[in-house]
Amino acid sequence: MALLTIDLNALVANYRTIAATVAPARAAGVVKADGYGLGAAIVADALYRAGCRDFFVALTGEASALRPTLPADARLFVLNGIAPGEESALIAADAVPVLNCPADMARWGAAARINGRRLPAALQVDSGMSRLGMTGTEVAAIAADPRQLADIDVVLVMSHLACGDAPDANANDAQRARFDELAAMLPGAERSLANSGGAFLGGGFHGDLVRPGIALYGGAPQEDRANPMRPVVALDARIVQWRDVPAGTGVGYGLTSVTDHDRRIATLSYGYADGWPRMLSNRGAAYVAGVRAPIAGRVSMDSICIDVTDVPLDLLVGASHAELIGPNQSIDQVAVDAGTIAYEILTSLRHRHARRIVAVREQEDATCGS
Ligand SMILES: *Cc1c(COP(=O)(O)O)cnc(C)c1O
Repeated sequence: MALLTIDLNALVANYRTIAATVAPARAAGVVKADGYGLGAAIVADALYRAGCRDFFVALTGEASALRPTLPADARLFVLNGIAPGEESALIAADAVPVLNCPADMARWGAAARINGRRLPAALQVDSGMSRLGMTGTEVAAIAADPRQLADIDVVLVMSHLACGDAPDANANDAQRARFDELAAMLPGAERSLANSGGAFLGGGFHGDLVRPGIALYGGAPQEDRANPMRPVVALDARIVQWRDVPAGTGVGYGLTSVTDHDRRIATLSYGYADGWPRMLSNRGAAYVAGVRAPIAGRVSMDSICIDVTDVPLDLLVGASHAELIGPNQSIDQVAVDAGTIAYEILTSLRHRHARRIVAVREQEDATCGS
């Protein structure tokens, strides 16, 4: 069986790196999409122990699932607003919805009146990405008529960067200026603009709360820059069999790969149904005993063929698994090979693999300073 290893020490180290980078702002933990595929409860628990108190998921259902695993003083924000009918589930999960539009605000205000108390919310403004959040006109209307907020306690004003991973993009400064302008109309609330990339854009982007996701999980926060994060995920697929084939042998569906010389082909028990992109057909590689083994032919549903000709035979014989993600191949490298981003590689991984959690070494803190 394939093995997904999640190193919570690395996760916590990444959290601390970001927290130190953005201090005195605080670092939240974005754990939407089941903690970028790693397991939201496990990730959130480790982050909470490292001092994180603010968590972001995308959906109400994600908040409902995560809340019972979190201590009461953890705040749980729901990014995608309030789907009609989900108000009571949000309240039951003690979740803070992100209000993205006037309809969200109306729903949350009505829920507050039904419950007979003010309800907390984050308010998202569109600072230039045109994806989610109130327009300038809508923010101005709220500012001009504070009665709209009579039943809502806006604890956070937030927005999202379109180009946070591109430190040289002019759009970042433009969005920051627009965000500052819009947030000034809603005084009294904390501010949050930066994702992983934004955390490394400098203090002007940090506000009170930074919202890293991918960098916690080891992904590079910014393109064309050295990755300061530690890898969190390793993925090893079982080698089912291998055989020597002569020149001219076709490999895999469609026989899209034909050997040029005598070759040694191994087959891994991992495929697109496990979440390995079919785009990696005849692209990218696995590593066997640290030696690169290019993917040969198409990625199948449950298997991948790799060319292990360069792997010394004694090492191949001793190898039960091949590395798909690990010390030789980062999630960002896999993403480049597949023409996508590390986010999609992680969140596509299914749960057909065994999962090994490397637990946080608790004494790290205790011995600190002694
Ligand atoms: C997903 C998301 C984040 C985290 O982004 P990363 O690039 O993974 O750090 C932060 N804020 C919002 C609104 C998001 O949707």
